[in-house]
Amino acid sequence: MIEVEGLTKYYGSLAAIVDVSFRVERGEIVGFLGPNGAGKSTTIKILTCYMPPSSGTARINGFDCLEDSINVRRQIGYLPENVPLYKEMTVKRFLEFVASAKQIDRSRVKGEIGRVMEICAIEDVSGRIIGNLSKGYRQRVGLAQALLGNPPVIILDEPTIGLDPTQIIEIRNLIKSLGKDHTILMSSHILPEVAQTCNRVVIINKGKVVATDSPENLTRQLQKKAQITVGFEKSINISDLKGILGGLPGIIDIMPADGDGMRWYIETDQERDLRADVAKALVEGGMRLVELKTVDMTLEEVFMHLVTEEDYSAPSEVV
Ligand code: ADP
Ligand code: MG
Repeated sequence: MIEVEGLTKYYGSLAAIVDVSFRVERGEIVGFLGPNGAGKSTTIKILTCYMPPSSGTARINGFDCLEDSINVRRQIGYLPENVPLYKEMTVKRFLEFVASAKQIDRSRVKGEIGRVMEICAIEDVSGRIIGNLSKGYRQRVGLAQALLGNPPVIILDEPTIGLDPTQIIEIRNLIKSLGKDHTILMSSHILPEVAQTCNRVVIINKGKVVATDSPENLTRQLQKKAQITVGFEKSINISDLKGILGGLPGIIDIMPADGDGMRWYIETDQERDLRADVAKALVEGGMRLVELKTVDMTLEEVFMHLVTEEDYSAPSEVV
């Protein structure tokens, strides 16, 4: 439904995206995940025909974004990063305006507006001036305009940005329900956000796609390693620690957890629980062990591992 092949976009000499390729199949909800500046909006603007790529191709439902932009636009409902709402218009007037811009047949306009207002639960504010609405309502009006004309593909650029937690849940549920009848691509810089909404995630960093997978697999794949935290009565040096633990099967790496050498992270094979072996080896090696626990990486940390060069950031403790 969405086919992106080798998309590259330069702003002057800055390569905002480089050789970006991915596909979204019919009926999927795909998350387009990456930190700020990764190139999400750039990619989305090319897909929605707002600007041409420097090279590469994008097709929506078989139509080329560069050569067939009129047909592409008909396939897409687009919620841009900054929703272009006419703040002085009422909700209803604005939707009428968008319906006419989308050239929706006059006879269908009333029905269409009723339909999208119902889906987005904005009927009760239809007569209100957009500028006076809360951010959550405005975002729903933005979604409603994207849905007008019932396009098969919905593209949402950071649809929950700036919303409070309740509004985020509302928008997320709304997106999930839209997934029943639409193919959806939504960008976000928050992993749990897409993990909870999408069937598949495309991760982009510094303009390049770094991973594509289901949220579950992505998490699992990155969690092959587990970590044990150990704490000692007094400072230990790394060569002593490596001397004692280095021989144990399943130990991947040993890293300091603090600056004074009293707490350490031991990276281990996910498949085995090495806590007892580690404790035994340390005590037999004469170390005064005062703490030992396993640590799981949260989704956020998994994400940071993928998108940053640092191989290590302090994990949160769950046990
Ligand atoms: P994201 O949406 O993932 O935050 P963007 O696609 O907006 O990322 O930006 C990707 C990179 O391109 C960033 O380095 C950004 O500063 C740069 N960029 C975006 N738009 C422009 C523009 N109109 N002119 C110059 N540079 C831009
Ligand atoms: Mg953006």
